[in-house]
Amino acid sequence: MDYGKYKNARNASWQCILDYNINSLPVIVTNIIRQSDNIKLMKNSEVKKLPNDKSGITIKKKDIFYIIYRDTEPSRRCRFTIAHELGHIFLGHLLINTPVYRTFTVRNDNESAANVFARDLLAPACVLHELKAFTARNIANLCNISLEAATYREKRMKELELRNAWYLHPMEEQVYKQFEMYIKNKKSGVIR
Ligand SMILES: [Zn+2]
Repeated sequence: MDYGKYKNARNASWQCILDYNINSLPVIVTNIIRQSDNIKLMKNSEVKKLPNDKSGITIKKKDIFYIIYRDTEPSRRCRFTIAHELGHIFLGHLLINTPVYRTFTVRNDNESAANVFARDLLAPACVLHELKAFTARNIANLCNISLEAATYREKRMKELELRNAWYLHPMEEQVYKQFEMYIKNKKSGVIR
């Protein structure tokens, strides 16, 4: 994946955190949808539109984005699926009216970018850094994501901690400011 796209997905996740006033973990993805007039969430058990091998799909119809997710999967996986589909929407992957599917294997740049968006939205690196949440189990519990997704996050966090270049981007600083109270309360044990 080219670095330009990666940066876009990362920046888009920060923008989303800022725009939707997300200031604590776990991120409630349904709150983002509730605040968006043009995004609707639908359960596949009700609409039965998903191909068998897909966990999620976004369809654009008359300026409304319909996210259909496989609601029979574990809730932690559902959260990632929905965040991934939000990535497609916020990254502008759905300018044409063709369905974009969530796939299990990373097939193209758009899929990778949507995964990066979901990861950075649900498990913002600077918040994990401040809370020193570095193990997959810790990350999974804090962010309410699957252990599998948290294991990838753990790997990435190791790289970021080695690089140790936090807050070079003003948006990351803003994300930190938005989470500041949460981080403080979490660290002092006011919230568990
Ligand atoms: Zn996708």
